[in-house]
Amino acid sequence: MFNDEALEKIKQKALEDHIPIIMDDTLEKIIEILEKEKPKRILEIGTAVGYSASQFAKYTDNDCIIDTIEIDENRANEAQINIKSIGVADRINIMIGNAVDILPNLKEKYDILFIDAAKGKYPIFLEYGIKLLNPNGIILADNILYKGYVMSDYNAHKQRTAVRHLREYIKEITENEKLESEILDIGDGLAISRIKADK
Ligand code: SAH
Ligand code: MG
Repeated sequence: MFNDEALEKIKQKALEDHIPIIMDDTLEKIIEILEKEKPKRILEIGTAVGYSASQFAKYTDNDCIIDTIEIDENRANEAQINIKSIGVADRINIMIGNAVDILPNLKEKYDILFIDAAKGKYPIFLEYGIKLLNPNGIILADNILYKGYVMSDYNAHKQRTAVRHLREYIKEITENEKLESEILDIGDGLAISRIKADK
């Protein structure tokens, strides 16, 4: 049984701990996509404490499996406890490590990829991730507008590298002829790209 109360507690604790969990309006849009696409397998990069993965489990069929990658062992361990308390541990596989190392070794094919981790790695996540998707699969990238910095001329030094890589990601999804993409100004920015079935 899905424990909504446990999920809400985990959300509140994550917010208190300043863990950058998915924003409500971004989640709403993704739920819309999940309900329409009915994915059977989802890959997430950036588990944190398992909040978004649990939400995805809530809004997909019981036979939908979610594989999720987290580099920080403490967070992954907390996520494991959380998904158990929510009642979705049998549907979520947490992999501990750097997604850059894990992605090239994955054997499954996915209907949806959710990128929500190191902004400087978005282009490489896309390059590896695209190969793991089924025809018609969807790639979602959170924080693609990074507090507006991506569309602004001025960026402080500490944001510059992330901004450069996020812009590179946007350029790639826009120019790649295998993809049909849009960028939504909701939450911290959400990029949605669909793999064209005939490519
Ligand atoms: N998707 C989560 C929030 C993820 S926050 C939610 O909405 O609930 C981003 C997470 O990505 C952090 O926990 C961070 O440790 C992890 N991360 C950063 N770089 C990573 C990498 N290269 N591989 C895997 N995880 C990474
Ligand atoms: Mg995010």
